[in-house]
Amino acid sequence: MSSGETELRAVVEAIRANDRFLLVTHENPDGDALGSIQAMKLALDALGKDNVAYLGGGMEIPREYEFMPLEWLQRDLPGDAGERVVMALDCANASRTALGEDVLERTPLVLDVDHHHDNTRFGQVNLIVPDASSTGEIVADLLHELGVHITPEIAEPLYVAVVTDTGRFQYSNTTPKALRLAAELVEAGADVHDVFQRVYENVPFAKLKLKARALDRACVYEGGRFVVSYLLRSDFEELGVGEEYAEGIIDDLRAVDGAELAATIREPPEPPDAPRRISMRSSSDELDVSAIARKRGGGGHRQAAGFSSDESIEEIIDFIRAEFAVASLAGHPSELARRASGAA
Ligand code: 5GP
Ligand code: MN
Repeated sequence: MSSGETELRAVVEAIRANDRFLLVTHENPDGDALGSIQAMKLALDALGKDNVAYLGGGMEIPREYEFMPLEWLQRDLPGDAGERVVMALDCANASRTALGEDVLERTPLVLDVDHHHDNTRFGQVNLIVPDASSTGEIVADLLHELGVHITPEIAEPLYVAVVTDTGRFQYSNTTPKALRLAAELVEAGADVHDVFQRVYENVPFAKLKLKARALDRACVYEGGRFVVSYLLRSDFEELGVGEEYAEGIIDDLRAVDGAELAATIREPPEPPDAPRRISMRSSSDELDVSAIARKRGGGGHRQAAGFSSDESIEEIIDFIRAEFAVASLAGHPSELARRASGAA
């Protein structure tokens, strides 16, 4: 199962052979996105490579990652973007890079480094490792291959990437390899307890109140197998918080006994005409929520996916319910027969 060996070497060669890089990750970044880009930036620095790291979109860095030393992260595209080798980290498709087709076409080489199984392979080199717990894990493999020493400054963001994308080593992507990497990173200087306190025990009171609204409005459908809630633009405005404060609420919905599918629908506080944002989580590998997301132009992983929509909250819930019903029946033909026979 040496998924991506050839591509790994191709990315290593491309790094060795080039001198100017543009690192990008997806807007609305998570711990894996920020950890991966930070570790890669420091590695390129160590290799003496000129690099610029760019984060598109207007969204703020989520508060739980503000402790990371990200001051070099540029929010405006550099003028020479089209002349640099692009390395996209944790971006499932070209639009997630926020670079625009024109830049991607002009640029000499695009290295697409990601672990989303539905990655559209938009680069010239596509190092896509769906078995990897996180993009950070792939970055660690690259650094090993490049012979970059894992300093404490590199170990900590890689640890942030792995710990957040595995749900603190609880999701099904928590492989022996991910755990071994975590051990290596701790040995190299990542501070487990410090990361825990900064990422998970730094909850602003307004976030607690936002979560309370979502939990209060949670509804169950399909006999409790689908749990969904929503947040209105007015919720964000009244509490004076951005959309990033909604992160993590979906985990409480998924944790409900009997829930197989959880979803949140959010109305971003700005811009005023922004479409609604939908997150979905599945509790079992058999239910692929990225397939549901793709039907509305989104994507993601089998167990965590999202999309945007201009439809009403009711319409979005109806759409997900219908797709869930179809997926459930497809995955459980015996259940279909059982129900058809009138069994409870
Ligand atoms: P979240 O629900 O945390 O925003 O996203 C869960 C997963 O779905 C992430 O891996 C993210 O990359 C993916 N995802 C969320 N929204 C979109 C989207 O609009 N398009 C695509 N392609 N992937 C998305
Ligand atoms: Mn990721």
